[in-house]
Order: sequence, then C-alpha cells, then structure tokens
Amino acid sequence: MSQTQEDFKRIISFAKEYGFIYPSSEIYDGLSAVYDYGPLGVELKNNLKQYWWQSMVRLNDNIVGIDSAIFMHPMIWKASGHVDAFNDPMLDNKDSKKRFRADVLIENHIEKVEDKITKEVDKAAKRFGETFDAAMYKETNPRVMEYQNEVTTLSKRLATAMSEGNMAELGKIIEDLQIADPDSGSRNWTEVRQFNLMFSTQLGNIAGQEEKLYLRPETAQGIFVNFLNVQKTTRQKIPFGIAQIGKAFRNEIVARQFIFRMREFEQMEMQFFIAPGTELDWFEKWKAQRMKWHLALGTPANKLKFKDHDNLAHYANAATDIQFEFPFGFKELEGIHSRTDFDLKSHQELSGKKLTYFDQEKNEAYVPYVVETSIGADRMFLAMLSNNLKEESVPDSKGEDSTRLVFKIHPALAPVKCAVLPLVKNKEELTSKAKTIYDKLKLQFQCQYDDKDAIGRRYRRQDAIGTPICITVDFETLDDNCVTVRDRDTLVQQRVPIEQLSAIIAEKTDMSKVLDQLV
Ligand code: ATP
Repeated sequence: MSQTQEDFKRIISFAKEYGFIYPSSEIYDGLSAVYDYGPLGVELKNNLKQYWWQSMVRLNDNIVGIDSAIFMHPMIWKASGHVDAFNDPMLDNKDSKKRFRADVLIENHIEKVEDKITKEVDKAAKRFGETFDAAMYKETNPRVMEYQNEVTTLSKRLATAMSEGNMAELGKIIEDLQIADPDSGSRNWTEVRQFNLMFSTQLGNIAGQEEKLYLRPETAQGIFVNFLNVQKTTRQKIPFGIAQIGKAFRNEIVARQFIFRMREFEQMEMQFFIAPGTELDWFEKWKAQRMKWHLALGTPANKLKFKDHDNLAHYANAATDIQFEFPFGFKELEGIHSRTDFDLKSHQELSGKKLTYFDQEKNEAYVPYVVETSIGADRMFLAMLSNNLKEESVPDSKGEDSTRLVFKIHPALAPVKCAVLPLVKNKEELTSKAKTIYDKLKLQFQCQYDDKDAIGRRYRRQDAIGTPICITVDFETLDDNCVTVRDRDTLVQQRVPIEQLSAIIAEKTDMSKVLDQLV
C-alpha cells in the first residue's frame, strides 16, 4: 500500500475510533457512500457550518440566509437542466464488475502525465541548482514539451466530448490511451453510457396518482425560486446574496472515497445576484474572498489552488474550483461559478412568473446575473481531517521521546474547547472542585470532564480529538484557587487563577478572530 493510501486509511480509522464519523447502517454491513457523524463529528461539522454562515450572513449586510425544503416542485429540475443534463458518463469493467466515470478515468490519466512533468522539472532543478529556470526548462526540454503537448491535446479532446455529450468519443479516448481498471488491470470495458444522478421518489398517497419528485441534487435551486420573495421581504438592492446550508443527494457512480464523494451530503451555497455585465468582476472578487476564507483557518497556501474549468457547465460563463491536496491528490473542494441569468430565466419561462428586478439607479428592469460559491461541508470536514491530523514526537513525563497523535484543528473549530481534569479520581475534594469548574465553563463552551486513567493518558486523548486547552485541578488548587492550563500545540503549562479561565479559553477559541481576517 502506498504512503498516501496508508495516510487515508489512518484518517478513516481515526474518524471512527474517536467518534467523528461512522459508516451508515453498520450493523447491516453499511450503506454504500453514506455516513453518519458521531458526537465529535457533529460538533466539528456544526462549527465549520457556523464559520461559513457567519462569514456570509453576519459579515455581509447584503447577504441573507434561507432554509428551503428538500422537496421541490418537479418542474424546478426540468428548468434547471437537471432532468435532461445532470448526467455522468459511466462504464463498467466486465471482469472486475466495477463501475467507473469515464471522464474521471481520463482525468486521472492526464494527472499522471502532469506528474511526470513535475518529476522531470524537480530532477532538473536538483541537477542545475540555483541557476535553474523552471519556466524556460518547460518550454525547451523535448521530453517535457512532449508531455505538455499530450496534456493539452487530451484535455481539449475530453472537454469537447463532454460538452457534446459524445459517449462514443469518451470510449474511444479510453481505448486509445489503453486505460485499465486501476484495481484489476483489466481493459475489458463496456461502452460508455449517460447516467442521471438524481434520486427520485413520489409524493401523494393515492395509488396511480403519485407525482414523481426528486431529492434535490443541489441547494441552489431553492435559492433561485425564492429570489423574489427574499428580495421583496428584505428590500435588498442588487448586488445582494442569499446563503443556504442543506442536504443534497446524488446517486454517484463512483463512491469509494469516504466522505469525499457521498450519496447524501451537505452543501453550503451562496448565490450572489448582480447586474448583467458585472459578473466577471464579481467572479474574481468571490474567488479571492473564498480563498481568504480557507487560508484564515491556517491551511497552508501550497495545499490549495484554483483550477479553472475547461468544460463549462451548460449554465456557466466562467467557473473555477478551489482544489485541496487530499491524501489522494489535488481535488475539488469548492466551486465558484458565474451562472449568468440561466436559472432565473429558465424558471421564468417554465413557471410563467416574472423574475425580474427593477434597478432604480439604472431605471430599468432585468433578470439578474448570478455568481455562486458552493462548498461541500463534508469535503471541508475531510480537508480539515487530512490537514490537521499529525503524529508528533514529544517528551513524556520521564523526559523520553514518545509519539502523540494530535489533531491540530484551528481552536475556533475544535469540537471540544477545553477539558477539565482532576489530577486523581478518588479524592472527593478534587473531583467536586473540578466539577464545579466544569459546570461553570460548560455554560460558555463545549467542555469535557474526564477523571479516568492517568493524567498523561487523558492529555493524549484530548490531543487526539483536538482539544486546545486542558485544565488540571490538583491539591494546590484547593488552597490557592489556581489550576494548570496546558496548551495542545506548545505543551506549555501555566498556573492561572480559576476566575481567569473563561477569558483564556475565549481568547484562544474565539471565532471572531478568524472572521476578522476576512473583512
Ligand atoms: P465533482 O466534480 O467532484 O463531482 P461537482 O463539480 O459535481 O463535484 P458541484 O456540483 O460544483 O460539484 O458541487 C459543489 C460542491 O459540493 C463540491 O465542490 C463539493 O464540495 C460538494 N459535493 C458535490 N458532490 C459531492 C458528493 N457526492 N459528496 C460530497 N460532497 C460533494
């Protein structure tokens, strides 16, 4: 198993062992690509959602929130294009019986060629030392140029086949490249077919009169169809945005990457309504703002990058992904799309209801354009796990090196903000003092009280779940009303008066400091 596969497995077993994420319906052997969040998982996910919500709705006077229903009128999915075009090209391997997305197989092949370019450049950089000019090397080295050519030609071929919905051509590309099933090595493929990703169900209880409904594959449409309601009730003027967090459902073809690709997941989407012609400016502004949002959590800049779409969706005139370096490579974490007036216009046509806005400054009515930012709460959760779970060497109580597992999540997102630990468990004076401190702090913060095992083991347990501050109550506390505060990251221990605890924890875990970096 490769190092990256091992890292990924480590993350999955950590998530289960500590109560972050469990496979759904586990006692019935699970349900493919569906997961449940455990006690710590739900806290962390709530904190992530809160960070997103506050950065959108609280920081921006011109962004408001909604929570629309998952069930919507079936015509909505006709208007949005999902009934006709929300398809992925799929194919099966006849030997392994596994199903794949044709575009993903081709993209993975392109990535491998890109990796070869990176390797060649790295090798040359080592060979030539400080004087090395990477850009010049890429433009002149025959082997690198050949790889680059291959990437460009293939990317174009893939984009054309995808935008034309040309399944035969996708099959031909896979055949030309001799792409094999990554697990079994077999090239015995079926032909490529379109597969609609929406789940359907029915509304009504009179046999034969049920109406076909879809589980929403994105939250955005709930925003579009409420656009005028919101605009009128809040008296917002363009530019303004509507934000929503909610479940979305997709019958994904390949769902083998833990919470990266789920069949039921949660999206955090914001649609920003603007005047036609201003969309590319707003697109750039939101790109910059969303990147800032990620960086403010301490995620290193080299783990995040923009990747513009070669193959624009039917509704977009510009689109980019923010990719994050997951253990299995750089993959989409968030999408930023300039959706033009496609959705509102389609709803206007199909519903027969006007969805125009009267712009008083321009003295004209128009259907607004939209720039959207759309991020999966679960993918963001996985990014946080991948980036912050570390194994470190630290001195133990005897001063010898020992390893600790530490979840270095930003303190504002930590599922538990502080743990109150009596030094020993069998002394009633200590435990009751510790409980009094705990009962006070839990009014303000998510706290844990723990008196099981030796203190060192309890520290390790709190490190592993990312608790920024541990508070130890010892015999001296009974005399001087002071406790020991231990910092998760620096391991520094400080003696502080009990009445300062609330301020110390607030200072360390305050979300407003992260938000302050965004304004
Ligand atoms: P992909 O290309 O990975 O299938 P997408 O381009 O279809 O993703 P969007 O429709 O732009 O994704 O959805 C916006 C965001 O929703 C994505 O950036 C991702 O974070 C999240 N998301 C989409 N599909 C899933 C899924 N199946 N499981 C978890 N999160 C998802």
